[in-house]
Amino acid sequence: PASNENAERNNSMGVNLANDDQLRTLATQVNAAVADWRAAPLVPGASLSGPQIAVTNPADRRQTIGQWQAADAATVERALQNAVAAQPAWDRMPAASRATILEHAADLLEQRMPQYIALCTREAGKTIADGVAEVREAVDFLRYYAGQARKLFAPEPLPGPTGESNTLQLQGRGVFVCISPWNFPLAIFAGQIAAALAAGNAVIAKPAEQTNLIGHAAVKLLHEAGVPEAVLQFLPGDGATVGAALTKDPRVAGVAFTGSTDTARAINRSLAARDAAIGVLIAETGGQNALIADSSALPEQLVKDALASAFTSAGQRCSAARVLYVQDDIADKVIDMLAGAMAELSVGDPGLLSTDVGPVIDSDALKLLEDHAAKMAGIAKPIATAKTGDSIAHGSFFAPRAWELQSLSQLTRENFGPALHVIRWKADQLDQVIDAINGSGYGLTLGIHSRIDDTIERIAARANVGNIYVNRNQIGAVVGVQPFGGQNLSGTGPKAGGPHYLPRFATEKTLTINT
Ligand code: GLU
Repeated sequence: PASNENAERNNSMGVNLANDDQLRTLATQVNAAVADWRAAPLVPGASLSGPQIAVTNPADRRQTIGQWQAADAATVERALQNAVAAQPAWDRMPAASRATILEHAADLLEQRMPQYIALCTREAGKTIADGVAEVREAVDFLRYYAGQARKLFAPEPLPGPTGESNTLQLQGRGVFVCISPWNFPLAIFAGQIAAALAAGNAVIAKPAEQTNLIGHAAVKLLHEAGVPEAVLQFLPGDGATVGAALTKDPRVAGVAFTGSTDTARAINRSLAARDAAIGVLIAETGGQNALIADSSALPEQLVKDALASAFTSAGQRCSAARVLYVQDDIADKVIDMLAGAMAELSVGDPGLLSTDVGPVIDSDALKLLEDHAAKMAGIAKPIATAKTGDSIAHGSFFAPRAWELQSLSQLTRENFGPALHVIRWKADQLDQVIDAINGSGYGLTLGIHSRIDDTIERIAARANVGNIYVNRNQIGAVVGVQPFGGQNLSGTGPKAGGPHYLPRFATEKTLTINT
């Protein structure tokens, strides 16, 4: 996959990106790619009305970077009619032809990387390194699902008695709704869409309200690559008018959703309540991810990986480490080193290559984190607060913070930002630690730092999580390499970027012929 090439660079904090000529050139192109971006519903035949809503830069709210227009109820209805009418022809197309279109989109995206990174930086506050990783992951998803479609959608001959031929074939389910998050506004958005399209579905894509411009640009690119406009439609808008209207509609066969556990539950209820075929839900939700380090961990490596896991993308990843469980023998040393390393973080303008941590997505997200910090002030011991530069005055910035806690039960919800909590454990408490992690109800990522094979195996066997990473950071799953997704409150599976994802978007048909 494309993202493998630079995995280390994309996933590590503190790597000196500014020394790399190629990245410097890219950063210049990214920062020059300023435009008056626009987003509006892409629904053939709809007559659009409604106000233009300004989009501002999370790093500096004085900057308006574009405008978007929300879909109304009539546009939603028109999109559903279009999708129902267009889907059968798309489904009857050979899977290899659909795959070729998706691969063409991947090529276009690679060619236009600076523009897409610029959008990720300006609209979502991504650092340039995160923007590179985001575009690469989108490219990987497009190519991976295209490849899977070629392989899985060919009719598979099955055994049978003499005089009978049997085949099994996958087919699209119908109209799929893809509802994506703002934290991966291109990669997850394009990934969901690519899978649903590759499987022969028509798609109605609803982006997160914070990242409409990126979603619009991605859909335009897929159209340019050859996806018919009625087969892939774009419906920006609020959850009530667009999301809820779509998920309760009987014409919708399934929903791919990434976001909060509460919203996934609401979608599930909405699909189940319809007087229609039972809808499919593929949901990827939150986490309360831990990193367990025992006394055999190498402190330097542990701190580097904890920092990357907790603070990359300003901690706005479902995969991010929220809790570092460190064995008491090495805890003082690790906590000291963590505070020292946090003092070196550069927090500020995401357009600068030297920036490690950019803004959080908006003032609501900032408020939640500030409320959390106020709560921690009463119950936790502060470890460090990263310093911030002058450039943050007009943006939604939360300086990375770490606290020491007594127990995981002191965290009542996922804190979606650069907030890390450290808990000490004693040698005889390992099973209790794992049980506490399982007891949170979430099960997404888990980091382990240990040089003892038995300990690694014991933790890995007992922890109910989707993605385990040993002696490295626990973010930045690579398509086809670390298929990504959790269990329990963290999602339904199957894993995105894995071999079982695409079939969930399809239905199976057998054909038995008495010859
Ligand atoms: N796949 C991403 C990672 O491994 C996280 C996706 C998410 O935050 O939803 O870091």
